[in-house]
Order: sequence, then structure tokens, then C-alpha cells
Amino acid sequence: MELAIRNGIVFNGKEIIGKTNIYVREGKIVEVSREDHSAKMEIDAKDMFVMPGLIDAHIHLSGIKGGSLLKIMFEKPEYRVLRAAKWLEKLLLAGFTTVRDCGETVSLALKRALNDGIIGGPKVIAAGKPITQTFGHGELSHDVPLEFSKTMSFSEFCDGMESCIHAARKVLRDGADFIKIFATGGVLSQRDRPEHPQLSYEEIRAIVNEAEKVNTYVAAHAHGDRGARIAIEAGVKTLEHGTLLKDETLKLMKEKNVTLTPTLTIQELIFKYGKQIGVDEWGLQKITSVRENIANVVRKAKEYGVTIISGTDLGFETGLEEIDMGKNWMETVLLVERGGLSPIEALRASTYNAAMAIGINAGVIEIGKDADIIIINGDPTLNVREISKITHVVKNGKLTVENKSIKG
Ligand SMILES: [Zn+2]
Repeated sequence: MELAIRNGIVFNGKEIIGKTNIYVREGKIVEVSREDHSAKMEIDAKDMFVMPGLIDAHIHLSGIKGGSLLKIMFEKPEYRVLRAAKWLEKLLLAGFTTVRDCGETVSLALKRALNDGIIGGPKVIAAGKPITQTFGHGELSHDVPLEFSKTMSFSEFCDGMESCIHAARKVLRDGADFIKIFATGGVLSQRDRPEHPQLSYEEIRAIVNEAEKVNTYVAAHAHGDRGARIAIEAGVKTLEHGTLLKDETLKLMKEKNVTLTPTLTIQELIFKYGKQIGVDEWGLQKITSVRENIANVVRKAKEYGVTIISGTDLGFETGLEEIDMGKNWMETVLLVERGGLSPIEALRASTYNAAMAIGINAGVIEIGKDADIIIINGDPTLNVREISKITHVVKNGKLTVENKSIKG
């Protein structure tokens, strides 16, 4: 064996399996048992909490500072990417072994640099440019001239079926692992409203079709119920935000096996600290209603058996004590404290459920899975806030974080 993690109290991504040893060879988990085998490297977990590495299934590696997203247009990508590379280190230190970037041009370069071993950090699953309609959420500002918006925005524009097919093929050609679309207005865009549907059924269906041809899927940003429903009927697989979903739509999600990423962290952040961190005026005006309603939506989603996954939607550095890039376990905490999930359900949302939804071979401590494992000096099933007490991070079978520092 190459690596043994002994004597930990193991949560395997689904349930607590008690005191167990985990053995790793060639980056994969090869045995989970009470047996004793020797290994080249040994970690004694000393009755600490051992679980799969955390997953943030909705992040934006934009590399901007402060709450005004317009900086994506006004700061050069070659500078933003350097800051985002630092975020990846912070995320690894915080116990994240995979993040899914839900729309950002520089994330594709970051993913490549990670895979080539040039920089360190969690695995990155990336959408590249998200797809927006004209006068859509992906424009952020609707006052700048349209031509400027098309050139400088982080989004790919499409209007009409032909144009949507082209946009989908273009982002896939750029290297997207999945396709992100905006199916309603949003909070941080200027003049659309969260309840406005965006893109038509035919347009979304055309994008889903292109994704499915290359064995991937579409993730849809959707707040309002009508736009969300159109996206679900058109075949998207993960629904992001879902703040204004009605019961019938949640039942349809269960039926069609569409997962919900409630992104409680970004809403809490804008609601509590928006003004302080410089969120644009329109964002401050729109946050209250969506933030208020999402707590009920999560409770209802749980009741109807919809799979809930953990994603912060953090996309900028705040410098705040409570919520900032690198404290992304806050979503797990909020799923319990605001969403009414049990700690075990929130841990599942942050590991196994997220891994299944985004299609990675991790998120669970079972034979054949990637050895992405963390050790916590605390018990997050008793107090979910103890999830922040990470002592070790193993990624692909390699010890990459020990006692708050990155190795190698
Ligand atoms: Zn987002």
C-alpha cells in the first residue's frame, strides 16, 4: 500500500461507518476495513473525523476583489487569473478537493495549469464562458453599449436556436466540462429581475442537445419559477439558486432527477455585508426577497426528496471574517442553520451528492474512488461549524495539506 489513514472515525460520504482504516494505491482507495496492512506512508487520524474531501459545486474563479462584479469587465484577465490561483490554495487548505466553476473565462486556464502540475489546488470542473441571452443575467450591466458588453462580458451571447447551437459548440470547443446557462434574471445584474424567464424552451433544448452529444449536461442559473420550469422541461441537470421555486416545480425536479444548488452563502453575504463590500445598488435592492424565500425552498426540497448539493456561488474576495473565499464550508453550515438539513445531510450535500451531480469519481470513501480525503479535528455531526477544523487534506492519494500548510 502507498498510503494508510488509520484510526479515524469515518463518514464515507453517505453515512458514518465508525472507526475504520483506509488504504490507497495509485491515487485510488483500494481498501476500507478494520484490517492492518503496512504502507509506505502512514497517517494516524487518532479518533479524529475522517471524510471525503469537500466539494464546492458552484464557484466563480474570477479573481476579483470586492462585491462589484463589473470588475470582470474592467480588470484584465491575466491579472485576475493570478489572484484566482491564490484562491485555489486557500480552497485546498479549507479542505476542498474539487470545485465546479459555474462560469468564468479564466477557469479553463486554471484547470489546465492544475492538471499540468504548474499550480496547486482542488480539481477544477469548469464551464468556461456561461451562455446568456441579450439583455440577460450574463451581461451584468445593461447600460454599457451592447457591443462593449459582448466583447468584455464573461458570457457567450446567443439569441435564437441557431445562435444557441453555435454558442454551445463554441464553449465546448474552448474546453468546457459542462455548459452553464442563465435561465432567469438575477440579483447581481442590472435591469433584469430574478423572476424574469430568460432563453426560450427551444433555445435551452438546443443547448442541452449539444451537451448531451458530447456526454455532458447543462447547469441552469434560475431564481424565478417560470424560467426554472422551462429549463427543467428542456432537460437541464442541475438547477442553481432556485430561490423562488414553487412546490410543483420541486416535485418535477424530483421526478426528473434534477439537483438543486441553493447557494445560501452568496445570499447571506450580499444580504448581510453587500453594502460594505461594494455590491452594486441593484444587487442590494433585489437580495431581500430571494434570500428570504430560499430557506423555505430548501425545506420543501428536502420534504419532496430533491437532491440538494453544496455550492457557495462565491466569486470574489471580501476580506470579511465570516464569509470569504477560502471559507467555503460556510455553505455546509448554512444548509444546517438556514436550510434545516441535519448535519449528516449537509455533509452528504457537500460530498457524495455533489460528486454524483457533477459527475466525478470522488466524494465517497469506497473502493475504486479517487483518494480525496480530509481529516477534521472536531465532529461536524455534533456541531456543523467544526467542519472548519481541517488538519489534513489528501488529494488523489497524496498528502497535500498538513497542519495548515501546503506540502510540495
Ligand atoms: Zn453563480
